[in-house]
Amino acid sequence: MHPGRLKLIIPLAALAFANACQTVQYTGRSQFLLISESEEKKMGIEAYKAILKKAKLSKDRKKVALVRRVGRRIAKHANKPDFQWEFNLVDDDKQINAFCLPGGKVAFYTGILPVAEKEIGVAVVMGHEIAHALARHGAERVSQGMLVQGGGQLLSAAIGAKTPHQQNLYRQLYALGTGVGIMLPYSRKNESEADKIGMILMAKAGYDPAEALLFWQRMEAATSGKKGRGGSLEKFLSTHPTSRDRQEQIKAWLPEIYKKYYKPKK
Ligand SMILES: [Zn+2]
Repeated sequence: MHPGRLKLIIPLAALAFANACQTVQYTGRSQFLLISESEEKKMGIEAYKAILKKAKLSKDRKKVALVRRVGRRIAKHANKPDFQWEFNLVDDDKQINAFCLPGGKVAFYTGILPVAEKEIGVAVVMGHEIAHALARHGAERVSQGMLVQGGGQLLSAAIGAKTPHQQNLYRQLYALGTGVGIMLPYSRKNESEADKIGMILMAKAGYDPAEALLFWQRMEAATSGKKGRGGSLEKFLSTHPTSRDRQEQIKAWLPEIYKKYYKPKK
């Protein structure tokens, strides 16, 4: 069939759906996305600015340098020349958290550094957070939210219309403007995928991916007995659940990741 005619025959919505299926690099999982990468990046950059505006940046040069050094080293292997990478350290010891927004906008909170312990621990967190952005988990969550919001919303999103209501939806889903601790929890599936891709990235960058197991063990130790107090630890757990399953998965992935991706730095 003539491609020009095809365009006329297939309804717009169907076309949008056909374009909505993407495959995640490294894991091959298909995902359903209703926003474009450029749209997603715009949102990420906007959210990052809003968060940093309210945050107090760390003045600890050594720690800032550490986060940036690890960030650059891992970002080199993320294969995202269109990202404008930025790595900042927010001075907040109560937040045991970190995130990477689309477009390569990374923030660590000082509270996660004691759990990271050292450079390679920072690499575990860095790999994991960058993996969320690479695998477009934020866009996936936004898309699922759009589906829940119904068909009209869906179609306007698919054709790129920007209604105020839709912008509000973005705001909710990226939790933009709520200040600290911004990210809503990802699904277990996305968490697990970020673990795996994060380990691949750190391995490619020359960090031993086995540290991921030690990091999550430290996290479990740091958080055990402290649940239910409504503090930052609980908040971190809600976005990054620690579990024995998670550690078992990490163990199971290690041989493959060593074989295919690990290039120790000499
Ligand atoms: Zn995560």
